[in-house]
Amino acid sequence: MDFNLTEEHLMIQQAAKDFAVAELLPGVIERDELSKFPTEQVKMMAELGFLGMMVDPKYGGSGLDSISYVLAMTEIAKVDASAAVIMSVNNSLVCAGMEKYCNEEQKMKYLVPLAKGEVIGAFCLSEPEAGSDATSQKTTAIDMGDHYLLNGTKNWITNGSTASTYLVIAQTDVEKKHKGINAFIVEKGWAGFDIGPKEKKMGIRGSDTHSLLFTDVKVPKENR
Ligand SMILES: Cc1cc2nc3c(=O)[nH]c(=O)nc-3n(C[C@H](O)[C@H](O)[C@H](O)COP(=O)(O)OP(=O)(O)OC[C@H]3O[C@@H](n4cnc5c(N)ncnc54)[C@H](O)[C@@H]3O)c2cc1C
Repeated sequence: MDFNLTEEHLMIQQAAKDFAVAELLPGVIERDELSKFPTEQVKMMAELGFLGMMVDPKYGGSGLDSISYVLAMTEIAKVDASAAVIMSVNNSLVCAGMEKYCNEEQKMKYLVPLAKGEVIGAFCLSEPEAGSDATSQKTTAIDMGDHYLLNGTKNWITNGSTASTYLVIAQTDVEKKHKGINAFIVEKGWAGFDIGPKEKKMGIRGSDTHSLLFTDVKVPKENR
């Protein structure tokens, strides 16, 4: 087996390193101290194709392999851990799951803008009583016939207030315990969806971590 990096890998690694040094390094300490989201830098990451690195180009991504993604992520994380976590959530937790499990209609509507970095995504699993043991989460999405009714609290959600698209994990059948867990696409601004205050952290403070509250949010059937 050949463990050497390809020319393409080296090129992506260098591009990420150059970007990190030129665009992320200036102001990184200040952004962290002020808990300031790197808005302009994230836009540049989108232009470089860093927000949907492994997504198929037909869904707006860069179509690269996971090694390219890890190399780029490593270079960015060396300089700005907040930018890296913003990038990793969009790539790994949101885009990768959507590409694998969403239907074509959901992909065209939600994955394409996320992979292009036109909007940012958030992945909402953790709860006050469900961290490492994610299967004990209490958020419910009850089937009401023509929609699901979403209720629950999520916390430590990266990109919590900057995201436009939220992948929310919820129980559709509490009796089935972990086998009754499903994922729902929720849009910012829907009635009953409230964004809590920014969480206080010891570091990685630019990444905009919030708790989220869902109170009787009507989620269309097609967003499961
Ligand atoms: C910067 C940041 C960003 C985050 N972003 C997101 C996000 O975008 N979306 C999201 O859903 N969540 C996010 N999280 C939440 C994160 O996934 C949880 O913090 C993590 O799952 C751990 O859960 P917890 O904090 O409740 O700790 P706990 O589960 O309470 O664990 C506390 C400690 O106990 C240990 N422990 C737990 N269970 C056991 C066991 N059975 N045996 C032995 N030891 C155990 C753990 O290893 C840990 O050391 C984020 C967290 C941080 C800090």
